[in-house]
Amino acid sequence: MIPIPYGRQEITQADIDAVIDVLRSDFLTQGPAVTTFERTVTAYCGAQHAVAVNSATSALHIACLGLGLGPGDWLWTSPITFVASANCGLYCGARVDFVDIDPRTYNLSVDCLAEKLAQAEKAGKLPKVVVPVHMCGQSCDMAAIYSLSQQYGFKIIEDASHAIGGKYKGEPIGNCRYSDITIFSFHPVKIITTGEGGMALTNDSALADRMQRYRSHGITSDSRIMQPRPANEIWNYQQVHLGYNYRMTDIQAALGVSQMARLDAYVEQRHHIAERYDAELVDLPLQTPWQHPESYSSYHLYPIRLKLEKSAKSQRQVYDELRAAGILVNLHYIPVYRQPYYEMMGFRAGYCPESERYHAEEISIPMFPTLTKSDQSKIIDVLHEVLA
Ligand SMILES: *Cc1c(COP(=O)(O)O)cnc(C)c1O
Repeated sequence: MIPIPYGRQEITQADIDAVIDVLRSDFLTQGPAVTTFERTVTAYCGAQHAVAVNSATSALHIACLGLGLGPGDWLWTSPITFVASANCGLYCGARVDFVDIDPRTYNLSVDCLAEKLAQAEKAGKLPKVVVPVHMCGQSCDMAAIYSLSQQYGFKIIEDASHAIGGKYKGEPIGNCRYSDITIFSFHPVKIITTGEGGMALTNDSALADRMQRYRSHGITSDSRIMQPRPANEIWNYQQVHLGYNYRMTDIQAALGVSQMARLDAYVEQRHHIAERYDAELVDLPLQTPWQHPESYSSYHLYPIRLKLEKSAKSQRQVYDELRAAGILVNLHYIPVYRQPYYEMMGFRAGYCPESERYHAEEISIPMFPTLTKSDQSKIIDVLHEVLA
């Protein structure tokens, strides 16, 4: 019995050839492939600028730094996300808070956000940055969040780690129409992969320049930014602030360019898999993922929500029985503030009730473009047996 993972990459001969070409070339890093990858993604998404980095976590960090987040500031995000969406605020010395989710989309709830902003304004604790997370690849209600940002003066970083290839109101996620920055992840379980990798997109050229410097030690060779020094001294670069080494290699970027050619096909395949799950799980005591009519999801994940009051089995039992049957289901996500590290900051169970209900009912079943018809049949059959 070969276990079926919840997500996995596809690597083709074209990907391997693209990587080998770089290995035989002059540049393994800081060469032309990174720029080519950035241009491929900006062209696809319709954004002006992109900064490729070694992970989405790094992309979130340079995004926060680029927006000037620091001590005394607040960053707000959804509890139902990977910890990186919140940790980026802590890296900058800011404080982090959470906005409960919408029970249908599992994205940050705009109603909860509006209510929390009104309270924060009175308390003088408005956030500097809000990070909406496009959960499973379905966009948040960005037009509404953008309009709140105009009213309350916060910046927006879209955590689109799940969502490259998805659309919102008919336009590609990543065009930053309703945000300052959008970030993507290229981890192997995500939609396309570079092994490890991430990218930050923006339409603001000054912000893109800052993020580029944060990617590479705070160093620049741009004479407009460098300080004047005596002409007889050689200053081919200067470090003008503190930065990091978050660079993506050309090896990774070449893999990314090659994968981008199959992005639309991958997302279509994910939709076919979702349609079959939708149809064949309809009689079971579970909620399949609801889709907003303005959204075209990239379907990174297919989360089912167990209707525990209609089932004899607990979430734990269903999870264990599926795994015992070789179906390596997962759980996305534990509310971030329930993590021991966040509880040390004072967060307690009960803080975001909708997120906690979701956490107690969710299971992510396998979803990836190379999932075979027979493996999907097996998953559907086992779910019927387990939940019978
Ligand atoms: C995967 C993920 C990240 C982190 O991505 P890395 O590329 O592994 O750093 C951040 N946010 C969300 C929502 C993710 O799913």
